[in-house]
Amino acid sequence: MVEEFVTAIPKKSVDFADWYVQIVRRAELADYTPIKGCMVYRPYGYGIWELIKDALDRRLKATGHQNAYFPLFIPESFLTKEAEHVQGFAPEVAWVTHGGDEELEERLAIRPTSEAIVMPMYAKWVRSYRDLPILINLWNNVVRWEKVTRLFLRTTEFLWQEGHTVHRTAEDAMEETLRIFGIYQDLVENELAIPVLVGPKSAQEKFAGAQATYALEAMMPDGRALQCGTSHYFGQNFSQAFDIKFLDSDGEQKHAWSTSWGVSTRLIGGLVMTHGDDSGLILPPRVAPIQVVVVPIFYGSEMAEVIAKAEELAKALEDAGIRTKLDARDEYTPGWKFSEWELRGVPLRLEIGPRDLQAQQVVLVRRDNRKKEKVGWDNLLARVPEILKDLQAALLTRAREFLRASIYRTKEYGEFVSIMESRRGFLLSPWCGEASCEDKIKAETTATIRCIAEQEDAVGAACIACGHPAQAWAYFAKSY
Ligand SMILES: [Zn+2]
Repeated sequence: MVEEFVTAIPKKSVDFADWYVQIVRRAELADYTPIKGCMVYRPYGYGIWELIKDALDRRLKATGHQNAYFPLFIPESFLTKEAEHVQGFAPEVAWVTHGGDEELEERLAIRPTSEAIVMPMYAKWVRSYRDLPILINLWNNVVRWEKVTRLFLRTTEFLWQEGHTVHRTAEDAMEETLRIFGIYQDLVENELAIPVLVGPKSAQEKFAGAQATYALEAMMPDGRALQCGTSHYFGQNFSQAFDIKFLDSDGEQKHAWSTSWGVSTRLIGGLVMTHGDDSGLILPPRVAPIQVVVVPIFYGSEMAEVIAKAEELAKALEDAGIRTKLDARDEYTPGWKFSEWELRGVPLRLEIGPRDLQAQQVVLVRRDNRKKEKVGWDNLLARVPEILKDLQAALLTRAREFLRASIYRTKEYGEFVSIMESRRGFLLSPWCGEASCEDKIKAETTATIRCIAEQEDAVGAACIACGHPAQAWAYFAKSY
């Protein structure tokens, strides 16, 4: 029974795509629905999102941001105000044409992102330099009509946050863009234990309407990159399109400077792929809805006593701020429960049986390396947080080693193509800055520039695609 439960999942190394879908569904993170491209976030998956959300929300509030809510609908005439923006999103917009039986005078877009409804409101609110900056964040859903979808990674409707800020000067707006970028990196690496490469996008890959887009890019075990978040600097593009003007202290009317930035529930897909193994999910403790599962092991007459102690210990852990679940179901064997909680990625399992009652101890088993440890009751509340902290750090270290091993530096196009066809990963190569070379590489390998490697010096290097002098080194990869 136990064996069957585990072996029914395909091996991660053999069929990664199928493994991913099976884990997401069987761990009850999400499920397909009758609506094409739309998924249900089940309570366990939504619970992970709530923890990510809390962690980010704390950081945003600590840096002066406030939450608000804007409408789901955007009038067509608003969406078309910023030319590049509408061009970028038009193919994926869902439209509302009727209210009941009546045809609307103007179509309403269901927001694919909210710049076009936020900016007109800011134009109303901003009069003087004293009204700036506005630092607002939205926790909401957006809709993008996707042709190919994947649970968490790409769905027609998804949950995210989008921040929209306006500022008095270009410097202030750029500082905000980079501040958020830093917050995202801290979130993704220190809460989700997913290490990332960071840097600006190429002109071709940046957000529609942005002057600069900064991205966080992680490497997944199948050699494909996952974009984990972006922060955009708009310059005055949107404030000109939506006429956000203010009276500055020098008596002049000026256009404001704006930014936007977002991370979405695709981070959960990144968590699954980065840390999971053949037995299922492995959740970093900081974003695990259940950090410790308590499994009492009992036979016949000892049952009541073992369960009573398990309850007492579970409550003590919960009271100490550790998210704890007691699994006292008697219709399943302990072995079956172990497999189930391993599948669901609970970082630490606490076992307690009749012999442990005598010895006044429990057995702790880590999910990541399955190391067992006997711990006395009196030491439990001190030891559990230590193990959770250690496990969190171990996951990040392991993922960092993988990321490091996935970066290949090459100046030679033949080698570039052959690596992209076999091992994949991030290819760090010199680039001339021309979109035509990005297009050539994309056409021949399907890889794109994930971000520019700003720390690399391109002086004297030749573009990997055309041989002309390089402007920068860039990380190329196939991506989700
Ligand atoms: Zn080139």
